[in-house]
Amino acid sequence: MNTSFEDLNLSSSILKSLEEEGYNIPTPIQQQAIPVIMNERDLIGCAQTGTGKTAAFALPVLHLLETKKDKDAGNKKATALILCPTRELALQIGESFATYGKYTGLKQAVLFGGVPIEEQINDLQLGADILIATPGRLLDLSRQSYINLAEVQVLVLDEADRMLEMGFKEDLSKIFEGLPSNRQTLLFSATMSPAITDLTSSFLNQPETLKVDAILSIAENIAQLAYFVEKKDKPALLAHILKNKEIKNVLVFTRTKLGADELVRAMEKAKIKVAAIHGNKSQEARQRALDTFKDGGLRVLVATDVAARGIDIDDLKYVINYELPIQPETYVHRIGRTGRAGNEGTALSFCEPEELQYLKDIKETIGQDIPFADHPYQLSLKSYTKPAFVSPPLVGKKTSVSKKSSAKSKSRKRGYSKTS
Ligand code: AMP
Repeated sequence: MNTSFEDLNLSSSILKSLEEEGYNIPTPIQQQAIPVIMNERDLIGCAQTGTGKTAAFALPVLHLLETKKDKDAGNKKATALILCPTRELALQIGESFATYGKYTGLKQAVLFGGVPIEEQINDLQLGADILIATPGRLLDLSRQSYINLAEVQVLVLDEADRMLEMGFKEDLSKIFEGLPSNRQTLLFSATMSPAITDLTSSFLNQPETLKVDAILSIAENIAQLAYFVEKKDKPALLAHILKNKEIKNVLVFTRTKLGADELVRAMEKAKIKVAAIHGNKSQEARQRALDTFKDGGLRVLVATDVAARGIDIDDLKYVINYELPIQPETYVHRIGRTGRAGNEGTALSFCEPEELQYLKDIKETIGQDIPFADHPYQLSLKSYTKPAFVSPPLVGKKTSVSKKSSAKSKSRKRGYSKTS
């Protein structure tokens, strides 16, 4: 599976805008959908808002139009049509196309009802390569001959299930009648009802079907860093990090009971007081360790995922993944122990070479980068992957984690949170 936008062979003008937006890693739907769309295949994408689905179709559509337009210089025809159920969504999609396509030279028009038609007619007369429209207004403009549907090369139906729920079926059928049969069609829907299947079997040509789950989001106030380190150096790295006096309390996660016990022994050797809670300890011993930790009598608590279930510690500032979890969802639950109630939190993840795949899966699932920190036990990433170290190494400094800006605030609004 691809890991960067460069790998997806998008044009340099699109890559430039993505870099400005701070998008580093394609989300799962983007990784899967972009190559299919760039191959000019039809596609059914089962994905909800928040998965990055808009960019999943906007980026390859922009790429295809830009490439074709270069070949066919001077072509002023509208060649992509994006249909969606509401004006809010149309405006949002329009904003995305404008952002991702700002260096492509392609023009767009956003068309929806409930507002005077004249301005939209003006936009169309100036020439638009991309039309983003609600079905009713599009039909209106097409009937008045301001739009020639026969010129559409790529059709995108976004939130197709909602369009049907809102009673646009008839309008859609009329629009389909005017479209050329050799167009490319992409359909996105959060659900796959029989009505959607009907639509796809009549109007799509041997589509590829993709399904992605909703993205798990990480609270925006949790800073995340990864430490690439040899397994044998993990105890020393933990001891090094714990020298930081800013860390008043920290919950350290291991995958197994054995791992937890080994860590406790290593910390005892280093004269660092820790306690572990896991299934092999008596309920009483676990409760005691937890109470001491909560009361501030213990700085470092080691826990396995099972034992940590349901633990709620107010004002926990640090979580350390001493061993990365295999399931990305577990990572989300672990680090959700910090940053409660809007407090700031920091999640540090130790990653040994064998765990790189887990880290990659986590990043893909949460749709965020987790930058590597610089540290004294650093293992060279060169032979494994391209490094992207952040310097200086730190714990607790939110600013060292992310260079993203505008995209971030937009994403937060949409509930697709990024860490800062
Ligand atoms: P969507 O699912 O299209 O509504 O997208 C949700 C949010 O995710 C939008 O605010 C986008 O700005 C953001 N987003 C989409 N793709 C990425 C990506 N690869 N990296 C970071 N943010 C993204």
